[in-house]
Amino acid sequence: MDLELTADEKKFRDGLRDVFRNEVPADIRQRSLDGRTTRDDLVTSMRILNSHGLAVPEWPVRFGGQDWSEVQRFIYASELQRASVPQPLAFNASMVGPVLCEFGSPEQQERFLAPTANLDIWWSQGFSEPEAGSDLASLKTTARREGDEWVIDGSKTWTTLGQYGDWMFLLARTDPHAPKRQMGISFFLLDMNTAGLERRPIVLIDGEPEVNEFFFDGVRIPAENLVGEENQGWTYAKFLLGNERNSIARIGTSQTYFEAVTEMADEVDIGGEPLSQDPEFRARLYDIKLRLLALEATQMRVTGASANGQPSLVSSLLKLEGTRVLQDLSSLRMEVAGSDAGLVGEHDGPDLSTTDFANLAALQYLNLRKVSIFGGTNEIQRRVIALNILGLKGTR
Ligand SMILES: Cc1cc2nc3c(=O)[nH]c(=O)nc-3n(C[C@H](O)[C@H](O)[C@H](O)COP(=O)(O)OP(=O)(O)OC[C@H]3O[C@@H](n4cnc5c(N)ncnc54)[C@H](O)[C@@H]3O)c2cc1C
Repeated sequence: MDLELTADEKKFRDGLRDVFRNEVPADIRQRSLDGRTTRDDLVTSMRILNSHGLAVPEWPVRFGGQDWSEVQRFIYASELQRASVPQPLAFNASMVGPVLCEFGSPEQQERFLAPTANLDIWWSQGFSEPEAGSDLASLKTTARREGDEWVIDGSKTWTTLGQYGDWMFLLARTDPHAPKRQMGISFFLLDMNTAGLERRPIVLIDGEPEVNEFFFDGVRIPAENLVGEENQGWTYAKFLLGNERNSIARIGTSQTYFEAVTEMADEVDIGGEPLSQDPEFRARLYDIKLRLLALEATQMRVTGASANGQPSLVSSLLKLEGTRVLQDLSSLRMEVAGSDAGLVGEHDGPDLSTTDFANLAALQYLNLRKVSIFGGTNEIQRRVIALNILGLKGTR
């Protein structure tokens, strides 16, 4: 990191580096760098981080978080990604965890927060539906109250890593007659072993069954698993989405990709000169470098995390530009790899015998198409920025 840090901040950074590089096994970090983190890798590294108080630093201190300054939060995110430590599972650390801290009942906090921080519970996100993605408020899955239970019918789609899920946090319509669609939605916690829940995997463009569909046929949720107030789920969802967007920006990951691309471009020969010396290539590379520096500076000034019950607007900005940089770097990496970039991976998943730069270029390129879609598409982020940050009229 090039930024001027105080002596205390450097000490803080070195302490983190020690944990990230010496406590988290090197093979786990290498697979993470290659974009091939396994379920077990994620569980192991999150538990190691948690044992050092580093799995959920954004949470309030009383629930296991850290009372860090903006700079310390930035150093944490940056060092974690630069050491290629798998990011703590976002569903737990930056989605349902903060919602439970802010809006959960004391019983829910007592029951769920510690196992959520330690990844003893793997959470899945059940928001999107076939006709409800960007227009999430149009969701059709219903929950109707029957005695001490809620009965859920409907379906969810694009549930990332739902094959590993123990519990799902989901949105369902509890008042079909609410004056505004947003006002009739509630937020529930569901044990994914409950009868009536069926999963079907979806294979993505890179050959990985990373996402799933879920079908609910009379699934019963105990009344105490409603989060906050009935029909107020939209407020909690907005708070959660602010944090989700922030965690997708992955600036430190872009920095490691940038270094890899720069290094490889030195080795590729173009007419007797390294590609890294080509003026057009250099211009594109350093355009990305400048955008990364700007992102870094923005993230240092503002965490982008939702707070005091309010979703963060800055998270839209970080998400939009962070994902554009990631995708631009993945395109550049394909160019550096040239015709060596093999399209690896059958429908039962990639079978790489090497972890070399070119082989992984295609996989990463394909997989990173998703970042401009999930967590709210980049078009939607532009809309949020236009309306709510720039205050532009006429965009409603
Ligand atoms: C890999 C992957 C993983 C995902 N994981 C999860 C998960 O774990 N849990 C979950 O709940 N969801 C998940 N999602 C769903 C994701 O949040 C939605 O795909 C996303 O919100 C977009 O919704 P949609 O797919 O219905 O597209 P649509 O809303 O149908 O949009 C289609 C296109 O139209 C554009 N568009 C739509 N409305 C507007 C507008 N008002 N102005 C301008 N352009 C507009 C969009 O930007 C997009 O380009 C995942 C998606 C992907 C691809």
